[in-house]
Amino acid sequence: KSVEPEETYTVEENNNWIPKKESYSQKYYDILEKRKDLPVWKQKAEFIEKIKKHQTIILVGETGSGKTTQIPQFVVDAGLVKPNTMVGVTQPRRVAAISVAQRVADEMDFKIGEEVGYSIRFEEKTSSKTFMKYLTDGMLLRESMHDPLLERYSVIILDEAHERTLSTDILFGLIKTVLKKRPDLKLVVMSATLEAGKFQKYFDNAPLMQVPGRLHPVEIFHTPEPERDYLEAAIRTVISIHKSEGEGDILVFLTGEEEIEDTCLKIQREVKNLRLDPLTTLPLYSTLPIYQQSRIFEPSEHRKCIISTNIAETSLTIDGIVYVIDPGFSKQKTYNPRSRVESLLVSPISKASAKQRAGRAGRTKPGKCYRLYTEKSFREELEVQTHPEILRSNLSSVILQILRLGVTDLVHFDWMDAPVPETMMRALETLHYLGALDGEGNITKTGEIISEFPLDPQLAKILITSPTFKCSNEALTIAAMLSVPNVFQRPKDNRNDADAAKKNFDHYEGDHLSLLNVYHAYKKNQENTNWCYDNFLNFRALKQADNVRSQLARIMSKYKLSLESGDASSRYYYQNIRRCLATGFFMQVAKLEKKNQYLTLGDEQSVIFHPSSGLTKKPEWVIYNEFVLTSQQYIRTVTEVKFEWLMETAGAYFNDMCAGQNPPKKTKDIIEKNRKYLSTNNYNNNNNQKR
Ligand code: ADP
Ligand code: MG
Repeated sequence: KSVEPEETYTVEENNNWIPKKESYSQKYYDILEKRKDLPVWKQKAEFIEKIKKHQTIILVGETGSGKTTQIPQFVVDAGLVKPNTMVGVTQPRRVAAISVAQRVADEMDFKIGEEVGYSIRFEEKTSSKTFMKYLTDGMLLRESMHDPLLERYSVIILDEAHERTLSTDILFGLIKTVLKKRPDLKLVVMSATLEAGKFQKYFDNAPLMQVPGRLHPVEIFHTPEPERDYLEAAIRTVISIHKSEGEGDILVFLTGEEEIEDTCLKIQREVKNLRLDPLTTLPLYSTLPIYQQSRIFEPSEHRKCIISTNIAETSLTIDGIVYVIDPGFSKQKTYNPRSRVESLLVSPISKASAKQRAGRAGRTKPGKCYRLYTEKSFREELEVQTHPEILRSNLSSVILQILRLGVTDLVHFDWMDAPVPETMMRALETLHYLGALDGEGNITKTGEIISEFPLDPQLAKILITSPTFKCSNEALTIAAMLSVPNVFQRPKDNRNDADAAKKNFDHYEGDHLSLLNVYHAYKKNQENTNWCYDNFLNFRALKQADNVRSQLARIMSKYKLSLESGDASSRYYYQNIRRCLATGFFMQVAKLEKKNQYLTLGDEQSVIFHPSSGLTKKPEWVIYNEFVLTSQQYIRTVTEVKFEWLMETAGAYFNDMCAGQNPPKKTKDIIEKNRKYLSTNNYNNNNNQKR
C-alpha cells in the first residue's frame, strides 16, 4: 500500500506549519484508496500549477468528481496556506458545510473542529489550529464585516457557484475588490455546470480548468401524461423499481421536510402491505439532525431509498444511486417587491436542475431517471436556468451588510446580475423605516448594531428597542425561538395528543408569547429527560434555542443593551413585550376584516391564521412572523397589537404608504379611519401607559 500519493509538484516551505502525522489510522488508508479514484485526483498536478500561476481560477466538474472534498486539500499540499491563515470553502447549505467538513476531517485523519472545522450561523466548530474551514456563504459575508480584506484566509474557494445564492453573488463582488488589494490572495470558483463562461468573464478572464465527468449513461423516462399527484406517483414509482428493477439505491427529489417524512412513512407502509423485501428509507433535508444525516452515507443491508430536498442535487454526492425519481419541483424563494412578500413556493425546476438530478443516477454505473412529467413539458415549460436568488429575494439584510462594508454606490456595485431596481429601493426603504439608514441613506448607529446580529433586520430591531420596554430577556428568547426549527412536534399518528400538549403553552394574546412559555417551561424541566418527549417538543431545537439565545445576549452586552425584565405579575408585562414586537414587525401587520378573515396592510392579501396558531380570539390588529402560501393564504406566528402602537413606532411608514401616487386603497381607508377614531378618543391616555 502506498503511504503517500505520488507527488509531482514541489511542496513549499509554507507547508511546514501544518501538523504532519507520524502515522495514520486504517480508516485514512481506506479512504485514500477511494480518493485516488476520483476524477480530480488525476489533475492534481495540473490544478496546483494553475493556481500557483494565477490569482483566480474557475473549476468546473460534474457533481461527485471530488471538487469539494479534494481541492482544499490540494491547496494545502501545494503550500498555498500561509502560517496562521486558512483555506476557506463556502457552501450555500448548512448541511453540506457540516457533512463535507466531517468527511474531509476523516480523510485527513483529524478530529472535526480541530485542524478542519466548519462555521454556520449560530454554530462555529473551529479552533486555533484550524487551517481548513468549510462555512456557509452567508457566514463568510458576515466575517467580511470585521475582516474586510479577509486576512485570515490565504485561499478562498467559492463552491457551488452555479447555485447563485444571494450571499455567493455578493461575495463575488466583494472578493473581486479584495483580490485587487491583496495580490497574495487566491480564489477558486467551483461550479458543477458548464455555464462557466459567465464566471470567467466576470473574473477578468480567469483561466478555466475542467474536470471531465465520469458519468455512466442514464436512461431517461418521462410520463406519457401529466401526473395529477406527484407524491402518489413518486411512491408508486419507488415501489415498482423496488419490485422489479435490479440492484441499486433510489433517490427521490421532494420539496420539504413534512412531505419527505410523510412519504417515507407511506413507502414503508406499502412495502409492508405488499410483503416486499425490506427497503431502507432515509430522509434528507436541511434541519435533519446530524447523526441522521450521516446514515445516508453508511452502507445498508437492504436497498436504500433516499428522499431528499434539492440538497442532493449537487451539494452532497451519495454513491450507489442508480435510480432517480424527479417529480420536477422544488421549494424556491420568490419576492414581490410591490407587495414586499417573500415566500417559499413549490415551483417547477429548471432544465438545468432536471439534468443535474438525472445525472445523480449515473455515478457508479449506468442508471435510470424517472421524470414524473411529460417530455413535452420538459421541452416547453421548464426554464433553461433557475434565476439567481438575487432576482427573487428580499434584499434588506444583505444591502445593510454591503453598506456596512463601506460600499455606498449600490448602483455601480460590481453585480454579476444586478438586482431589480425596485427590489433595491424596497430594501433601502425598509432599512430606513427601521432606523438603520438616515435620510441621506447613510448607515446609522442603530443600523450598525442591527447589522451585527445574524438575524433579519426586523428581529434585530426588536432586540435593540427591548431595553426601553424592559423586556430584553423576553425579546432575546423570542428571537432565539424564531431562529431555530419549529419546536412543536406533531407526529402523524398522534396529532390529537400533540395538539392538546401544545395548548398548555398557548398564550391568549399571541404565539410569540407562547414561544416564551415553552422556553420557560423547558428551562424549568431541563433535568427531566422525558419532559420534551412527553410534551411533544423538539428537544434539539430547544437546546439550540438556548445556545442561540446566549450568542445573541453576547452581542447585546457588547453594545451595552441592558438585559432587563419587567415584573411578570404586572398587567403591563406582556403588553410591553407586544409593544416591543411592534417596533420591528410593523411591516407585517394584518387587520381583522370579518369573522376570521384578515387583510395584510400594504400588500392587501386576504389571509387567515395558520392552524398552528393558538390565538383563539380574533383581535382587530395583529403582527405576524410569516406569510405562508399553501392551499390557503396563512399568516403564521401571530400576536395581538394595538393600532396606536403601530402609529407611535412607525407613523412615517404608514404616512408614506397612504401618500404616494398609487396607495393601496383599502389600507389607506383603514388607516385614515382608525386615525380619526384615535384622535377623537383620548389618544394621550392610551399612550401614557406605564412601561
Ligand atoms: P463534488 O464536490 O465534485 O461534487 P465531492 O468532493 O463532494 O464531489 O465528493 C467526492 C466523493 O467523496 C463522493 O463521490 C463520495 O464518494 C465521497 N464523499 C463525500 N462526502 C462524503 C461523506 N460524507 N461520506 C462518505 N463519502 C463521501
Ligand atoms: Mg461539491
